[in-house]
Amino acid sequence: MNRARPEPGGGAADAGGAALPGGGGPRPRPPRAGATPPGLLARVRAGGVAALHRLADIVVPPLCLACRAPLADHDSLCADCWRQVDFIRPPLCERLGIPLPFDAGPGAISAAAAADPPAYDRARAVARYEGAMRQLVHGFKYHDRQDARHLLGRWLQGAGTELLSDADLLLPVPLYRLRLLSRRFNQSAELARELSRLTGVPCDPFVLQRTRRTPRQVGLTREQRRLNVRGAFKVAADRVGMVDGANVVLVEDVITTGATVEACARALRRAGAARVDVLALAMVTNPLHLPA
Ligand SMILES: [Zn+2]
Repeated sequence: MNRARPEPGGGAADAGGAALPGGGGPRPRPPRAGATPPGLLARVRAGGVAALHRLADIVVPPLCLACRAPLADHDSLCADCWRQVDFIRPPLCERLGIPLPFDAGPGAISAAAAADPPAYDRARAVARYEGAMRQLVHGFKYHDRQDARHLLGRWLQGAGTELLSDADLLLPVPLYRLRLLSRRFNQSAELARELSRLTGVPCDPFVLQRTRRTPRQVGLTREQRRLNVRGAFKVAADRVGMVDGANVVLVEDVITTGATVEACARALRRAGAARVDVLALAMVTNPLHLPA
């Protein structure tokens, strides 16, 4: 399975400055009198692009996406933060996506999944909800750190390879309207949109709707969380046809007890979804360690 891996140095979006137009193209033409030699033109253009990149670095200097320490490249983490991201790696429980202590073969499920099977088919997450991943999620959710979206999108793509290969639709977990207004954007929708851009799987943030406002889940027990969100989601009446018979992937920032994605999955099943998978940035893998 193709897991997300650290990319020291990050895949900066501005890499590849060498592929500039005008540098030794396929149509060599004799230089006219007074014309700029093509090689010089390429060097001038390259110099201009490099200067623009330097200017961008001055205006928005590259910072670690988690701890904001200065870096050489945009779109990455410092070495300390990389070490702190606890990537979830196989062997995994086929259903819950939590790490298993040993490889019991394909399709193996955990004792937790056997005892209390989830309403969704499979969940996968990039990393445990700890350390730098927790900082990244918080920064993205509450502090408008939109610069992290490219890295987070690539990580989701890596962690969700199996789920995305034959997915029909990406669906972000919706916020209630008032909360959306107060926070200005829905972090799950931003992640789903970035993932859609990377994979080509369509994304629709208006399929799932919250039917009522639910108290925040923070500080609640597993059972309280379950009751809190029970029946809180529905598929929009004009979009049931998109869900019926489709393989859908729910996109979420953090799976804590799974209560929210369970409630979403039930609503999608009622609308006829063929398969409901869940893809998240982070997961609380030990229920005794619920975040406060
Ligand atoms: Zn850092």
